[in-house]
Amino acid sequence: MEQTIKKNDRGEEVVDIQRRLIALGFDLGKSAADGVFGEQTETIVKAFQQKRGLIVDGVVGEETWRELVEASYRLGDRALYYRYPPLRGDDVRELQMSLNSLGFHTQDEAGVFEQETDQAVREFQRNIGLPPDGIAGEETIDALNSLKKAVSTGSRFAIPDKRYICNSSRGDRRLKIMLDPGHGLPKDPGAVGAFGLTEAEVCWRIALGCRWILEQRGVEVVFSREEGETIPEGERSQRANQQEVDCLLSIHLNFSRDMQAEGSTCFYFSNGRWYSKAGKKAAHLIQDELIRGLALVDCRVHGMNYSILRKTRMTAVQVEPAFISNVKEERLLGSGSYIETISRAISQGVARFLEMEKQSII
Ligand SMILES: [Zn+2]
Repeated sequence: MEQTIKKNDRGEEVVDIQRRLIALGFDLGKSAADGVFGEQTETIVKAFQQKRGLIVDGVVGEETWRELVEASYRLGDRALYYRYPPLRGDDVRELQMSLNSLGFHTQDEAGVFEQETDQAVREFQRNIGLPPDGIAGEETIDALNSLKKAVSTGSRFAIPDKRYICNSSRGDRRLKIMLDPGHGLPKDPGAVGAFGLTEAEVCWRIALGCRWILEQRGVEVVFSREEGETIPEGERSQRANQQEVDCLLSIHLNFSRDMQAEGSTCFYFSNGRWYSKAGKKAAHLIQDELIRGLALVDCRVHGMNYSILRKTRMTAVQVEPAFISNVKEERLLGSGSYIETISRAISQGVARFLEMEKQSII
């Protein structure tokens, strides 16, 4: 729309604007779509502008027109895919919200189909067995909608998982894991124990131990960060996604104000409604080994909506083998042989998971 449409204008363009506003649920009262830009239409245009975060002037210029067009798209009206300039609209927003609610991360829900959204669509398609072409067309949208419907039954629902392994053609390629030692000295020590032991240094040592053991077993291991490096959570998941690892293991320690709190725990992705099936399986395998190997209290496996679990596009687990706030456990964590025992237990669980995954694709 080249020109600006405002109060006292009349004609086809005004009818178009009024029809769009009515379709969006605005009540134009008696005037309806009469092609006359009167008081009532102006008031409704202002309400629309307010709702969409635009300058509220009651005038339909380029911005307001674009917003009117974008707002009128419903998911399924057209095929959505990545192109330049990117597709925009409320259908894109709806798609992003659906993908995000399932744990397929799209960066934001701004209604712009950017590269992140393309990757999330492909990841979703891979998981439900559709060709990962990145086009959110009829089939993909139907699949999204039927999964959404499953939610309304009220049950927790397991999605087939975020997995590169089972769908990639990288048959006998070595499996690749990213170890993510939590925090990072010197800037971010994480939790600190009563004797001054830092979570960051313990996590780093466990990661080194796991790397050594897993490499012995033929697994390719990469780290999320360098030793002296502090990076935000978002950067960690981004690196894992970029490197297309098969699995991510984030290593932290637990902390509680209650100094009696003790034991091991593992986390997998869940947002309360959806959870990662493969993540849960991996978390259980690791937790079992930890409990058997360390004889610590079993604080069990839990589904959590941590960003490192949500934003990663592969199976991800966060392990917290002990409480650094517990004096007894801090002492144990200070010993090299105990770190080795922890590393062995975690690596054993990870290796068992990777083996099972590999079997399931052959
Ligand atoms: Zn931590």
